[in-house]
Amino acid sequence: MERRNSWSIDEGGGAVLYGGFAKKVTAFFGTRAMDDEALFERLGIEADIFVKQTHSTEILAVDSHRSVSEWIEEGKKGYDGIVTDRPGWAVAIYTADCVPVLLYDGRKKVCAAVHAGWRGTAGEIVKKAVEVMREKYGSRPADIGAAIGPCIGSCCYQVDDAVYNSFRLYPWKGEVFREDGPRWRLNLKDTNRRQLMEAGLADEKISSSHLCTACRTDLFFSYRLEGSTGRMVSGIVMKG
Ligand SMILES: [Zn+2]
Repeated sequence: MERRNSWSIDEGGGAVLYGGFAKKVTAFFGTRAMDDEALFERLGIEADIFVKQTHSTEILAVDSHRSVSEWIEEGKKGYDGIVTDRPGWAVAIYTADCVPVLLYDGRKKVCAAVHAGWRGTAGEIVKKAVEVMREKYGSRPADIGAAIGPCIGSCCYQVDDAVYNSFRLYPWKGEVFREDGPRWRLNLKDTNRRQLMEAGLADEKISSSHLCTACRTDLFFSYRLEGSTGRMVSGIVMKG
């Protein structure tokens, strides 16, 4: 179910905001109008944890045992998702076309940011993030909400057989791939939504932005359309 009224664009234009989690939670998806430092300042974010993204399915579980700078150091080993229960620490990932997914458990007060390109999506990285929330933080999937941010839509995302074949074991691959001549169109957003539901999230607790990064290069960077380009920061923070 789309909850479009929970989505807005920040007055400064630097981010698409999702307001559907909780009052004290800031969930943001950056635009090309503002760099990460400027956006953090605008949103009042004082500490942020980021990782070296490698299109893996590795999830960094951040807690109070280390400092922010120590977690950033750990993040250099290569991760594509970050989970935390620390209020005031934003967890952030960077994308340009790939799917940014933010998760929030209002009962246990745990949040996560996930980077899901086609490789991470084929590896079901969002399911792994939910698994880490369950195992390390005691979250129940039914308590977790998800916001799937602006990413490349199936309107603009043509892929080849190699990508199609990496999803061949998916029982519902016929729903997310559409034939397009000798190639395919892939709906990454819907694929991640289905995986979140398989992980136990309720349909009505998953909200997706309708914006396509390649259709809207006025707002977003698109790697597919622009080649070497910038990256946008997306993240989530629970204010103390
Ligand atoms: Zn598009």
